[in-house]
Amino acid sequence: MKNSSHKEIMREIDSASDELQELEAYPLEKLAEIVKEVGFECERCTRCCTKEYNDHVFLLEKDVDKVLAVDPDCIVPAPYFDFCDKNGIFYVEGYALRYKEDGTCTFLKNGLCSIYSERPSICRIYPYMLHREVDGEGNLDWRQVSGLNEHGYYHVETDDETSLDIARQVKEYETLYLKQRLEFFKTILKHFTKNKLRHVQRQYDLRMRDFENGREVDVLVYHKGKLHLHSHKI
Ligand code: SF4
Repeated sequence: MKNSSHKEIMREIDSASDELQELEAYPLEKLAEIVKEVGFECERCTRCCTKEYNDHVFLLEKDVDKVLAVDPDCIVPAPYFDFCDKNGIFYVEGYALRYKEDGTCTFLKNGLCSIYSERPSICRIYPYMLHREVDGEGNLDWRQVSGLNEHGYYHVETDDETSLDIARQVKEYETLYLKQRLEFFKTILKHFTKNKLRHVQRQYDLRMRDFENGREVDVLVYHKGKLHLHSHKI
């Protein structure tokens, strides 16, 4: 019989697979209509490049090499570790951009993105998204825009071709993200089985307390089919 953490991981695999199917079935034209209607235009307020406003900048696998070519020290394990084993090692699905001490993105310089042409996928599609979330009434529904009316200009005239192109990029980002998450869970399942490990919630809580108190922790980060060890602290 499988232990509970293996069952939990298999449930996550099923859930990510279902979500991927739902995403693939979502009509591109419908998303393009929403993009056109929202008509977002950046006003260069740079709020979306801060930890305070956007928490973290998650990197798809294809973004990692690009940003590392600019700055080899610009990535960190993404926050919100998924698992912790009995040895106190955390596991997480990928990398995020490092923030500077003032809470702004490492690439934000003089109020501008210094890697604009090479910026990560999520920065290209922001504020659009396409994933399901539970709303205030407890219903699971699609969410297509983040931080509506909180920054930038809205209802800016956007032609059909541009709207469709943005919708295509958003769908591609969300698809790649879910595929990465799926592969992460499959890799963890193999790693736990091979090494006779499982997720231990008590260790997770203890090590998380250490981490939040500024101590260094070991994190295995999923990247391109492998787990990479990082010693990491806030
Ligand atoms: S990479 Fe550029 S656009 Fe993305 S958060 Fe950093 S400064 Fe902003």
